[in-house]
Amino acid sequence: MRPAALILLLLPAILSASEAAELTSVRNKGIDYVALDEGAARLGLRLERSIPPSTVMLKNGAQPVARLADRSRETDILGLRVFFGDPVIERGGRFYVSRTDFTLRLVPRLRPERCGTPPRPPRVIAIDPGHGGLDNGTENPKLGTVEKTYTLDVSLRLKQLLEQAGYTVVMTRQSDATVEKQFRSEIANQAGADLMVSVHFNSLYPNTRTTGVELMLFPPKSQRSADSWSPGKKDDHQDTGEPINAFDAWNTVLAGSLHRRLLDAMRDGDRGEKFEHLGALRGLRCPGVLVEPAFLSSDAEGARLATPAYRDQIAAAILAGIQDYAGILRRLSPAQVQPAPSGPPAQASAPAPVPAARSQPTRPAGP
Ligand SMILES: [Zn+2]
Repeated sequence: MRPAALILLLLPAILSASEAAELTSVRNKGIDYVALDEGAARLGLRLERSIPPSTVMLKNGAQPVARLADRSRETDILGLRVFFGDPVIERGGRFYVSRTDFTLRLVPRLRPERCGTPPRPPRVIAIDPGHGGLDNGTENPKLGTVEKTYTLDVSLRLKQLLEQAGYTVVMTRQSDATVEKQFRSEIANQAGADLMVSVHFNSLYPNTRTTGVELMLFPPKSQRSADSWSPGKKDDHQDTGEPINAFDAWNTVLAGSLHRRLLDAMRDGDRGEKFEHLGALRGLRCPGVLVEPAFLSSDAEGARLATPAYRDQIAAAILAGIQDYAGILRRLSPAQVQPAPSGPPAQASAPAPVPAARSQPTRPAGP
């Protein structure tokens, strides 16, 4: 999307609860859905039927900003692959999305200024290197590599970059130590972290061909994990919210910034943003996202991961994603602007522009 197409993003209007409540709604399997055409209009967007007829496009002027399909949870928002918590439905020729997906997936990504008061721009960043100690994480038997080594290595590289940019960094582990998942969010909370990024690497072993970037968010309280939609799995939604659910909209904004930068840096396919009830994120009192920048189990990505240059590239992409997110928050909360972290101005002080949509369609993930 051209920057000009993002002008509407700067409108100061807030989508109030009463506005959202006025949208035409239907119930589907006990879930509240809202009419997408009305929702789009509220956001200053236009809904357009596309080919095949079971798909629709949201457009900002002439520019497509989202694509959704009937009976699918998979969407494309600003060129990024995003899984909804509930499938889109079509009824009587009209498209509906669950109110939760509209409020917590579409609005934060397309109109973050309508998500209420944003968190303060980040100054303290928690980095959570996945696994460690007794827990190796996933392994690549052919290469003899284990996930915990690379999560720590990339996290230490990221720590250095963040500190150079003036941020304060807290690590949930700095060595090959065993750290229980629930303590990870506790460490971030104790440090007063403004966000947490949990670093992991993916695996589908013995499949050694699949590659790509994947991100995991904690599901909103009414929604299931992505995995629960697999054949034979059961609805695992929770009726009670967790501390991190207070930041659902901002988790979406953070995930979008990290997703775009990782995808641009890795160029190995987009596996999308998904949901899982992650123990490391559950108790978090700030936005948090788990990233899986590459597949350790892939012959290609597993080999690349063994090179320090590639791990530097991953760390730099996560830093850039955090800076983009910080830029969005600074833009949304001028009254709350605090002295920027004291790093180099180009990296830490200048508000980052809202990332534009990818000019190319979403790259498919590897096989
Ligand atoms: Zn892992």
